[in-house]
Amino acid sequence: MRRVSIFGATGSIGQNTIDLIAREPEAYDVVALTGGQNIAQLAQDAIRLRADLAVTADETRLDELRQALAGSGVEAAAGREALLEAADRPAEWVMSAIVGAAGLEPGLRALQRGATLALANKESMVCAGQLMLRTAQAHGGRLLPVDSEHSAVFQALIGEDLDAVERVIITASGGAFRDWPIEDLPKATPAQAATHPNWDMGQRITIDSASMFNKALELIETKEFFGLSADKIETVVHPESMIHALVGFNDGALMAHVGPPDMRHAIGFSLHHPERKPLPVERLDLVKLGQMTFRPACEIRWPALRLAREVMEAGGLCGAAFNAAKEVALDGFIDGAISFTRMTEVVEEVLSRVSPRLRHIDDDFGLDMVVEADHLARVEAGNIIAGRT
Ligand code: NAD
Ligand code: MG
Repeated sequence: MRRVSIFGATGSIGQNTIDLIAREPEAYDVVALTGGQNIAQLAQDAIRLRADLAVTADETRLDELRQALAGSGVEAAAGREALLEAADRPAEWVMSAIVGAAGLEPGLRALQRGATLALANKESMVCAGQLMLRTAQAHGGRLLPVDSEHSAVFQALIGEDLDAVERVIITASGGAFRDWPIEDLPKATPAQAATHPNWDMGQRITIDSASMFNKALELIETKEFFGLSADKIETVVHPESMIHALVGFNDGALMAHVGPPDMRHAIGFSLHHPERKPLPVERLDLVKLGQMTFRPACEIRWPALRLAREVMEAGGLCGAAFNAAKEVALDGFIDGAISFTRMTEVVEEVLSRVSPRLRHIDDDFGLDMVVEADHLARVEAGNIIAGRT
């Protein structure tokens, strides 16, 4: 039996991961499941999957979790330290599906003991890509991408020489507002932004899809994960979300990864890697689909894409600052403090303030420096939103 843990088990990626694992109960020994506020879901899945341990990130809800698990034999724990301790437990395969920079440290801890880390948490690569890669390498851990675009690139690169890669094209659905007049965007509400045309995902990433902050994070993730320079990474809007990414080689060949939007493909690929095994995803009927369309990724409609390019070119710890500022701006938008379009302005302003300090930091930075850059950007973003500076 393969020992597995799922961080962010109660979320959209976590639940899709559980769907796959629960289909083969004899194949997996579940070590730890972690969640946040949804205690009932966490306890129910931990009992059903016979996990050793269930952890909620919220310390105040430990009693509730204990009660929900009473008599089941599943251990309960809560809080940040418990989350890190869960990452130290000996699972060979660990799903990193916490949302935000909060997912970085548990993933690093799993890599430090040589685990295979299935990385849905793109923020880890954006904030600390070099540290993630270095940690995996130093301890014999393995990083596998779960973001659909990066899983697609990874699959297109199997057996290929990275030096022969001319470009990588990351597709974007365009999110909730791709057809809105640009002048209406400042009026967009969080509820409107939280609906996605093709993918069923968590609230934060869905809003990030509407602003293209999600794609911006993914461009940076592509650079970090595959070690490609910014000029080789492109974005195209593809409203059908059937092609997840394409890799262009120096002989003109363009390899596309095509399939219906279902995260269980990328999750299942990482679960079974290096083998391929049957997955319960819909098979694409090309004739029924009929056509696929493409549009330019307009940086006036989606200025987050321009910022991503600037962050990739700046390097250092600008990714950590970009992500942190984005998280604070997103909170501000969800809470009604700022408008949809103000999010990018806030992030751009934070970058202009902090990047002179962060861009020259060498790739051998440690976690403490990532945390510091993250903190710095959060403070600046908070100040800008509150109008304190
Ligand atoms: P979600 O909001 O549905 O779930 C997030 C999970 O993280 C939940 O279990 C929640 O309890 C937990 N969590 C939230 N804040 C936490 C904190 N501070 N500490 C510990 N746990 C915390 O999110 P999601 O859509 O499943 O996305 C998870 C990650 O996967 C994100 O990084 C996202 O960008 C990435 N991703 C998601 C999809 C998708 O289809 N949903 C696709 C590609 C990549
Ligand atoms: Mg993606």
